[in-house]
Amino acid sequence: MSTTRKKPATTPMKSKNVWGDRLQPPFKAVGDHIGVDLPGGRALFCTRRGGVSGEPFEELNVGLETNDYMPAVEENRERVARLIGIPRERWLESKQVHGADVRIVDELPEPAAAPIEADGVATTLEDAAAVVVTADCLPVALIAPDGVAMIHAGWKGLAADVLKKGVEQMREGGIEGDIQAAIGPSIGVCCYEVNTHVHRAFMRYPRGTARLSNHAHLKNVARLQLQHAGIPLDRIHDVDICTMCAPRSLFHSHRRDYGADPQDTGRQASAVWRVADSDPGD
Ligand SMILES: [Zn+2]
Repeated sequence: MSTTRKKPATTPMKSKNVWGDRLQPPFKAVGDHIGVDLPGGRALFCTRRGGVSGEPFEELNVGLETNDYMPAVEENRERVARLIGIPRERWLESKQVHGADVRIVDELPEPAAAPIEADGVATTLEDAAAVVVTADCLPVALIAPDGVAMIHAGWKGLAADVLKKGVEQMREGGIEGDIQAAIGPSIGVCCYEVNTHVHRAFMRYPRGTARLSNHAHLKNVARLQLQHAGIPLDRIHDVDICTMCAPRSLFHSHRRDYGADPQDTGRQASAVWRVADSDPGD
């Protein structure tokens, strides 16, 4: 029958309890998004819910380089700013280039300044958020009592040691406390089939852990790299959610949504900021 309605591509989910028991501590539901509190800071991994973008970017697309209607992207960014309680002029962002450069930023950027090219920002600034945008790549929050970093880690960045460099950059920037890491929603080994070129980039990691026949396990690579940088395994937390096989209504996924133009895929926001452990006066 030619009039048959197309099956919806997404699994409907109840908005009241999106996560059910899907999130394990330290991760927790923050409305339709995912939060994590670790000593010294807080991170929020946003889903694509709660924004104003239309198809194919619905709803919460924060990607400035996407083909979305920019006033909608700006409104979505304002909504994220309200969610995290940090205004956009206090966001520390970079122009992400799939490299391994992570910058320490200790002054707020001038409003009109061109963004630095890097794949992560570390900071000791208070009341400022380090922000990355992703759509399958790993958003990785690094949180210490005296500073935080947010890193964008795709396969190219991981192959170039972006997480190890991120930790080194925090140390160079004077962040000395124990670092904990939180790996946000990103493509899982379940969906990350790769060609030999990508597979070979991870040859130095153990077979069966980082490389599985024709798949790459980027989250395990991330864990190994963070351990190699000196973070013990019990301080590395993975929300263990795959952006590609989760319902389409939850996450932008470059692989799943890739159309004729990669900029037709939206991006979700991940932010981290410092939070004092306790108020001495209380
Ligand atoms: Zn998957």
